[in-house]
Amino acid sequence: MLELEPNVPNVGGLMYPVLVWDDREAVLVDAGLPGQGDRILELVSKEGVQPERLTKIIITHHDMDHIGSLAQITALAGSRQQELKVEVLSHEIEKPYIQGELMPIKFTPEMLEQLKKQLAELPQEHQKEFQAMFAANKPKVTGTVSHKLELQCCGGMTVIHTPGHTPGHICIYLKKFKTLIAGDALNADSGELMGPNPQHTYDMAKAKQSLTALADFDIQRILCYHGGVVAGDLNSKIKELSF
Ligand SMILES: [Zn+2]
Repeated sequence: MLELEPNVPNVGGLMYPVLVWDDREAVLVDAGLPGQGDRILELVSKEGVQPERLTKIIITHHDMDHIGSLAQITALAGSRQQELKVEVLSHEIEKPYIQGELMPIKFTPEMLEQLKKQLAELPQEHQKEFQAMFAANKPKVTGTVSHKLELQCCGGMTVIHTPGHTPGHICIYLKKFKTLIAGDALNADSGELMGPNPQHTYDMAKAKQSLTALADFDIQRILCYHGGVVAGDLNSKIKELSF
């Protein structure tokens, strides 16, 4: 779990992209806010994994705090390795949103106004920097993954389609580690597992219903993008949260 501090005001708390690797592949799950590419690769290096070893980036969903530095990371990692290209994977539904072909699904005119206001409050040079970051952020999804697909790397990674937070949201189950990478389907607060956050969830009923799909997996640990790691009797806790 990488510990990524936000680089803009008003985005509360640490974010936790996940890095999984074996002797052949290195997989990053989720890619921070815009302008965090260097920092993320620095954190990858700190784990003893050379950034040029990255083979896949899996995106759980298209929210800006998960795709912000995707283009920058693929450019940085790609330019360091000559033949190997970094694969970028997401659920098919998320692809056009990630690639900027569709407006983020949870964007409302009010949010756009609020963003503009926040941007206007930043010092001028920061404003320019921020706009340039957004303009440069043109991520490409190179492959799509679907429910129950198993990626044969890092001890087996199973894709679980968990619509709700966004329609194409996915979680990843790491078979070898009995660990669930939850994205934003679940949250954590001081080591306690919390359900989907109603404030940021597109379809709350679906998000809760999606949690029932997790019952098929023996989950000993959950890594939440917001809130970090939770351990314990998680299958029964997840069941509770699905009602
Ligand atoms: Zn998020």
